[in-house]
Parts: sequence; C-alpha cells; structure tokens
Amino acid sequence: MPYSQLLSPYTLGKFTLKNRVVMGSMHTNLEELPEGFERLAAFYGERAKGQVGLIITGGISPNQAGILAPNRSVLNSVEGIVEHQLITKEVKSHGTKICMQILHAGRYAFHPKQVAPSAIQAPISPYCPIALSDEQVHQQISDFVNCAKLAQKAGYDGVEIMGSEGYLINQFIVKATNHRDDQWGGSYENRIRFAVEIVKQTRLALGNDFLIIFRLSLLDLINEGSTFDEVILLANALENAGVDVFNSGIGWHESRIPTIASGVPRAAFSSLSQRLKRHVCVPVITSNRINTPEVAEILLQQGHGDFISMARPFLADSQFVAKAMAQQSELINTCIACNQACLDNIFVNLPASCIVNPRACNETLMPFLPASKRKHIAVIGGGAAGMAFAIYASERGHSVTLFEKRAQLGGQLLLAANVPGKEEFKETLRYFKAKLKILNVQVKCNTHVNIDHVTMFEHCVIATGVKGAVPTIEGILHSSVVPYHKVLSGGVKLGTKVAIIGAGGIGFDVASYIIDKAKTAPNSDEFAAQWGVDLTVNLPGGVAKKPDKVVNETCVYLLQRKLRKHGADLGKTTGWIHREHLKQQGVKMLAAINYEKIDDKGLHISVRNRERLLEVDNIILCAGQQPVRPDFITQLKAKNIPLSYIGGALEANKLDLQRAIGEAFTLAQTL
Ligand code: NAP
Ligand code: SF4
Repeated sequence: MPYSQLLSPYTLGKFTLKNRVVMGSMHTNLEELPEGFERLAAFYGERAKGQVGLIITGGISPNQAGILAPNRSVLNSVEGIVEHQLITKEVKSHGTKICMQILHAGRYAFHPKQVAPSAIQAPISPYCPIALSDEQVHQQISDFVNCAKLAQKAGYDGVEIMGSEGYLINQFIVKATNHRDDQWGGSYENRIRFAVEIVKQTRLALGNDFLIIFRLSLLDLINEGSTFDEVILLANALENAGVDVFNSGIGWHESRIPTIASGVPRAAFSSLSQRLKRHVCVPVITSNRINTPEVAEILLQQGHGDFISMARPFLADSQFVAKAMAQQSELINTCIACNQACLDNIFVNLPASCIVNPRACNETLMPFLPASKRKHIAVIGGGAAGMAFAIYASERGHSVTLFEKRAQLGGQLLLAANVPGKEEFKETLRYFKAKLKILNVQVKCNTHVNIDHVTMFEHCVIATGVKGAVPTIEGILHSSVVPYHKVLSGGVKLGTKVAIIGAGGIGFDVASYIIDKAKTAPNSDEFAAQWGVDLTVNLPGGVAKKPDKVVNETCVYLLQRKLRKHGADLGKTTGWIHREHLKQQGVKMLAAINYEKIDDKGLHISVRNRERLLEVDNIILCAGQQPVRPDFITQLKAKNIPLSYIGGALEANKLDLQRAIGEAFTLAQTL
C-alpha cells in the first residue's frame, strides 16, 4: 500500500484515529462572522469527509483576557456549547476525531486588557500587558480547565493546549518574558509550573477518556528562549501530568526567522520532533512545511513523528487524504506556502482562504454545482487563469477547449517557478496539468488562435494574460534594457552590474533570481545557517549568530520612485523575509528615484535633485504590467459569441495568482 505508515490507523486510549494525518490548528476568522460556526462546520466537514484522521480547531480562548483580538471566540460558558456542537456533529459524522485548541494569547493579545506573567511588552504588540497576581494565575488555570470541560460537553474528543508560538503558556516558560520571583517564576521548575498545572488539573477534571494534546515549543527562536534539554524536562513533566500526545511548535510569532514560508525547506524542523520522540513515551506530531503525502510518509518512516500535522495544505485541498488513499497524489492541489490568502488575510481581518483554492472557508457561500446546460467553451490562454477556468468549468460539466500559443501551459506560473524559494509553484502547475488531463479538457498548445478557431464555440473566455509595461525613459530602447520575463525564463546572459526598475513583487523576484540562481535550494542545515538558527538548540531559543552580509558576484540595484520601504506591498507575513534576504545578499535598495536617461554609460538617475550614474551592464524592467488581448474581439462580437475576460487580460495592474484563480472560479460558477 502506498503511504503505508501515513494511512495506517493509530489507537490512543479509547480512540482509534483512522490514519496519521492531523489537520493542524489555524485561525480562519470565521468564528466572529454571522453564521461563522455554520461556515466552520462546513469547512471542517469537507476535510473530515476527505478522510483526515484528526482535526484540531483554530484557537479558542478560555477567557476574555486571552482573546487574540476584540470579538475573537471564547468558550467560558455553557451557552457557547451549542455553536461548537455544529462542528463536532458534522466532523464526527464522517468518522474523524476532533480536538479543540485552547489558546490564551497572553501578551500577544491585540487589546489593552492583555495579561502576562510579567509586564513586558511584546515587540509585535502596541500594548503592555498587566502582570498577573498569584490569585489571577490560579484563575487562568481554572479557566483552561473550565474551557476543556465545556469542550468535552460540546462533543470534542479532546483539547490541544497551546503551549508554543509565544502565547501565554510559553511566556511563563521562558526567562525573557517571565521575570517573576514567586512560585511561577525564577527557576525553570517554577516557570513550567503553569503549563504543568493546567495539564494536571485538566486531566483530573476530565478523566482518562479525553485527549490532551500539548503543543510544545521545540524551538523558540527568541533570545533567552529554552534549550532542548529544558524542552525535554518540560515534556517529561507534562507527560507525568497527563499529556496524551505532543504536537510540535516552532518559533515565536515575534521571531524574525521564517518557519513556514515557501523559502523554508520542506520539513525543515522535523528533526526536532524526532529528537523529542526519543525522550517521551507518548506519541509526537511533527509539523511545519510538510505539504505532500510523499514527504509525510518519509518522515513517519524515519521516525520523525507518529503523526503528521498539516494545516494550510487542507485549505489548498480538502481531499488531500482521500486522494492519497486513491493513489492520486498528482491530483492534490498543493499548498505553495505563500501565506497570501490565509495568514495575510487574517492580519487584515478577512476570513482566511487559499490562493489556489478560493472555496476554502467559503464552502457555504460557493457551492459548486453542476451546470444546468452543458456548453462548448473556448479558453484562450493557458496561464493560471485559463487553466483554472478550464478545470472549474469542466468540473461543472462544460466541454472546454484550452488554447495556448506557446509550446507549454503555464504562462506567468512558469516564470514564478524559476524564482529560487518559489519552487512550490511547480506543484500548482503539476496539479493543473493532471486535472486538465483527468477532466479530458482539450488542450491545444502551439496554437496562435484566430477567429476561425473559435466560431463554433458557445462562449469564449479570454485569458491571454499580461506583458511587462515599458516606462517612458529616454534611451529605453537601449540594448542594455531587458524585460523581466526574459530574465526569469533564463533567456539572457546578464552582466555583473544590473539595475532593476520597479521594486514590486516581480522586481523582488528578479533580484532574488539573479543573486540565488546559481545556488541549489538550501537544505535544512544550510537554511538554519543562513538565518542564524541553532538546530541543536544547545543555545537558548536556538538562536545563533547570523552570518555577515554576503558579497555577491553580481551587484544589484533595486529601484523605486516612491519614498517608502521596498516591498511595502508584499504580503505582511512574507514581505519582511524577502527584504531581509535581499539585504543580506547585498542588494542595494534605492528609493525616491527619478529615472533620467539610459545610455552606453548606464542608468542616469536623480535622487532628491542630485544626479547619479549607475554604471550597470543591464537594466531590467519590472515596472508593472499591461494586458494582452487577441486582435479578433470585434469579429467575435460581430458573430454574437459571448465572451468574458479573466486574469491579466481583464485587468493587468496588480495581477497575481489569487486574482487569476479567483476570477476563473467566479466566472466558471456563473456559466
Ligand atoms: P507592482 O507590485 O505594481 O510593482 C510595479 C513596480 O514598478 C512598482 O514598484 C512601481 O514602483 C514601478 N513602476 C510602476 N510604473 C512605473 C513607471 N512608469 N516607471 C518606473 N517604475 C514604475 O507590480 P509587479 O511587480 O508587476 O507585480 C504584479 C503583482 O504580482 C503585484 O500584485 C505583486 O504584488 C504580485 N507579486 C507578488 C509577489 C510576492 O508577493 N512575492 C511576487 C511577484 C508578484 P514606483 O512607482 O515606486 O517606481
Ligand atoms: Fe497555502 Fe498559500 Fe493557500 Fe495559504 S494561501 S493555504 S500558503 S497556498
């Protein structure tokens, strides 16, 4: 059997989990919306139907002080049970187990009434916490226990106690955030007392037939964090207190080291759960940057954990496990670790969704029903928008022909996949191609479409994409000027000094391509060295010294006219990673530029009226996009063939994968 470990059952006390796949906790922002719990029930229900073994819900606070932000969900009274029952009933109807995560944000709470072991403000919070009195600490523990009791009443099989990522429990454990001198602070034994008491009292109150998972911070990635020896001491104390399973947590939210973004190697931190396993008797869940059944299976076989936790991969594909069971892993819509529609949405108070699966968290709003009438549809353009539309329309029952002028499908996706750290885009391409094949979509590459190709269709979808915009600068036609697509497709040999005009997403991608293209993707150890991570965790928090700035053989200038930080429009949770990386690699970022002219000497610019010459060999244009549209639109209209535009052909400005796939989905739903 493929994935023989991953798909094998596991018995935990009175519970048998049907496989080793855990859908990890992630906040969706749905709880706070009208009918939010109905939407959550549908969201989790689809994943349960897709055969996941265990679901851990998003974090629910045990009291008001612990909520992450105003209006976030609390479970502290029997009145709250009813809405949770919607979730448990739905999930259990598919034979999947479900645990509720109890999360107390402590000083990470985004409100002024936040509490913590000590009054030390988090670098990512505008508020300073109130230090808890001894009596209040006891009250927090009682609130955790009460919350677990209510979870049991609501039908959950257990709880996950959130002890990692820098939330309240973690704040007690670590010296940096716990300056107390009473029984809850000082020695390590005192600092872990809060965590241990929560588990001990929860076990006492709920008996043995209720799962207690503890999310343990294996690597804090902050100064004065725990060492691995301390983590083991804590794990042993928690095991004695009654923990059934350990889940792995990596990195506090305030840490400036990436832990889940696409540039992090797959399973980069799983060696730590493997190490934990040697010191505890209960099972261990490994996590972080695991997004395919193949990787998951290898990790289990190599003893990195007893279970695999994946969170975002279940936003990308609700049927991940079912497809693995059916030996159809090529049909899994893989999470590309971009954070763009999940975490980044949460930061702007939108419900989470997924860039490659717009239905995620919108299951009740976007029912995907068969079309009432089968139509013959032509799609012109085989980039992300065109491929996604062809798939969705075909799934609804339409007969679709997809035309692409190049030899292969992919469009901008092909370019993105060439950017170091963005290799996951290849998975999206693989998924699209596998789906087009299984759905029998007619794909016609190498076809420059004209009116004769499309006259027999009932609807024509224009998904012809974008081309790079050419700014008006004196000398723009100089031979040193290169459009970004030629660079990213490997079509030009650049000199050793280059200037990039435009510091948006594509400007960053091009800079990264130039400085990293000759290197192979880093493995976990290389990644750790690059970001100053001590994977042995002998150093407190696993924080090591970062290497000095690298001197690259290519000198790269990344230029923008605006006076603001570079990459300001990049994703909230990933933009800083790209910026840090380019800075570390010595990319020179200049802002408030005026482009004066281009000539044989290079690029002439002025910055605040001071003229400067950048003596560069090449100037790469990343100055936005323009739509590309076919030249037979008037003829199409004359023949009364209905047509629709999607993706860059509709609007080139700020076109990204999320909009391309989202528009494809919306259009396919309406035809
Ligand atoms: P973009 O983000 O709009 O950036 C275009 C850049 O070109 C801007 O920095 C702008 O900066 C400059 N520019 C615009 N008009 C110009 C002109 N006439 N002369 C000189 N410079 C000009 O667009 P993009 O880079 O093409 O990216 C397209 C979309 O894909 C965006 O939504 C982007 O966020 C997304 N994307 C994201 C990522 C990522 O998150 N890592 C990667 C790739 C693409 P100034 O006006 O300040 O000069
Ligand atoms: Fe994964 Fe990106 Fe989807 Fe988030 S938005 S689940 S990171 S593919």
